[in-house]
Amino acid sequence: MYNLNGQVAIVTGAGSGIGRAITIRLSLEGAAIVAADVDGMAAEKLIREIKDLGRRGLSSEIDVSIAKDVERMVKGTMENFGQIDILVNNAGTGSTGLIIDHSEEDWEKPLQVNLKGTFLCSRAVAKEMMPRKRGRIVNISSIAGKSGEEFIGAYCASKFGVIGLTQVLAKELGRHLITVNAVCPGYVWTPMWENLALWFKENFPSMAELSPREVFERRVKAVTPLRRPQTPEDIANLVAFLVSDEARNITGQAINVDGGAVMQ
Ligand code: NAP
Repeated sequence: MYNLNGQVAIVTGAGSGIGRAITIRLSLEGAAIVAADVDGMAAEKLIREIKDLGRRGLSSEIDVSIAKDVERMVKGTMENFGQIDILVNNAGTGSTGLIIDHSEEDWEKPLQVNLKGTFLCSRAVAKEMMPRKRGRIVNISSIAGKSGEEFIGAYCASKFGVIGLTQVLAKELGRHLITVNAVCPGYVWTPMWENLALWFKENFPSMAELSPREVFERRVKAVTPLRRPQTPEDIANLVAFLVSDEARNITGQAINVDGGAVMQ
């Protein structure tokens, strides 16, 4: 366990999957939580669970790709808690298909949410962290941000971008003693992967008879040395370490949690 008592953490995309596990973990470590999500009801439900555990929290219904939403989230956090110690840029979305079939919307959506959202939240939160000379930013990228994958081209581009932005922010914010790292999950069974599995089923006759979960398991076994998927809690474990004092000398890194699927 890491001691985050007295700290305040914002987690975006907190209402589902990996973000939900990160939020619960940081709360159990002692941080007060701002759970931000475009699905305001999911974020509010999570905060009610956190409060039932006797912890502090606030929900914020925002679209991370809209600057005024992000500014409202940061203002609400400062008014309620007076400081921000941790930002986890986790909100994400994807699109599917060959690049030659991508519409402009297919291209723009992952770039807007995954990359612009990370930029907007980091910009707004870093300004609050800098005067205090402390802060931790963790960006949830992907192994698709390390190695290009067919059928998820715009998503890959956005996640490569997140790693580049992570390195830039680490250099620019280092003098303010703010660390910035990326975590790259491999294969985690969440609504995002379920949507991808449905697309594979519809587009590949060999997968038509499989359940979405079987499509996912087959992929994991084919590409992962450890032959098992990752859990949201596996990702939360690394995030909890990176935001702790134990990780104070780690910045600008992009670390895979992927059972060895990508080794770079
Ligand atoms: P998920 O279950 O779909 O959760 C994503 C959350 O982000 C959802 O609550 C979603 O709300 C929210 N969101 C989407 N667009 C948003 C926006 N514009 N503003 C605010 N919130 C928004 O997906 P997940 O698998 O947990 O993914 C979490 C992160 O991990 C993402 O960045 C993803 O790219 C990354 N990742 C996942 C995997 C994996 O295997 N699952 C692998 C590598 C990386 P709605 O549901 O209402 O859209």
